[in-house]
Amino acid sequence: MTQKIVVYKTLPDDVAAWLREHAELVVVDPQTPGALAAALRDADGAIGASVTITPAMLEGSRVRALSTISVGYDQFDIADLTRRGIVLAHTPDVLTESTADTVFALILASARRVVELADWVKAGKWMVSVGSAQFGVEVQGKTLGIIGLGRIGGAVARRAALGFNMKVQYTNRSANAIAERDYGARRVALDELLATSDFVCLQVPLTPETHHLIGADELRTMKRSAILINASRGATVDEAALVAALEAGTIRGAGLDVFEREPLEPTSPLLAMPNVVALPHIGSATYETRHAMARCAAENLVAALAGKLDRNIVNREVLAR
Ligand code: NAP
Repeated sequence: MTQKIVVYKTLPDDVAAWLREHAELVVVDPQTPGALAAALRDADGAIGASVTITPAMLEGSRVRALSTISVGYDQFDIADLTRRGIVLAHTPDVLTESTADTVFALILASARRVVELADWVKAGKWMVSVGSAQFGVEVQGKTLGIIGLGRIGGAVARRAALGFNMKVQYTNRSANAIAERDYGARRVALDELLATSDFVCLQVPLTPETHHLIGADELRTMKRSAILINASRGATVDEAALVAALEAGTIRGAGLDVFEREPLEPTSPLLAMPNVVALPHIGSATYETRHAMARCAAENLVAALAGKLDRNIVNREVLAR
């Protein structure tokens, strides 16, 4: 019998066509209340991103595999999926370099005030050559602290150490021997990283342990001259505490790709701050990378439904059942 796959994010045409060779596709708009849950009730698998899939949405369904078009999987209850025997697949690696580029864009834009000064020029305020009121701070040679030096953190460390001659330090639960060997990265305690880094960059997954990992105390520990960069998930930072720290001048600025609530509300105080660079969650958003992610997720799903997936599996325990 033909398998049914729910598609809850627009796929590139060629990827959708390839999936259609393997299954019947049911395309749903996840913004329509109840539509995704209803579709999941009569499906074998699903592919999409940016939507929380709750246990209730899977109740009574025969879904055997879910494929997220992302590396992060904080929108799933992994223990519940494993209990139900549902395989969850994700898309690591293919987005590592483009996301590291976004992190570096945030580092450079925040340090050199690129967005603020570009707006200043467009507003017709460039009347004489710039002075110290428009100066930024150097990036090269500075200390970069990476909280969560994994795939993306490693690609950021490579850019920093080899391209910008930066000193790299990091926190992880386990050591990253490759980053230590190739980029001179030094593993330190979180407090030391916060107190000594010029740029503090979060690249941890969002988990109960990393929720609000950076709050008021951590922001107070940072140097007043330091810049916070977050391209992980919004909730790794206590956003209210960040706003307070920026208002108080506890840190120099922030470069943010992610927020506690997305899309960021137009009334957010962050938007009125010239020392905040805010991006609309574009970490992996290039044509090439988004295509590669969709293709990877589609292949993951087809292989999972055939019982043949051997990589990109989030809950490998499910295979042992
Ligand atoms: P990864 O390779 O798994 O790296 C995550 C790193 O975080 C690992 O080094 C891990 O090391 C560390 N870590 C995990 N839990 C930690 C904890 N409690 N305390 C300290 N360190 C911890 O993942 P990745 O591919 O680099 O992706 C990282 C995250 O980036 C994703 O989960 C996603 O949320 C986010 N992301 C965002 C965008 C965007 O558009 N902005 C795009 C892609 C990814 P240990 O296990 O040794 O602790």
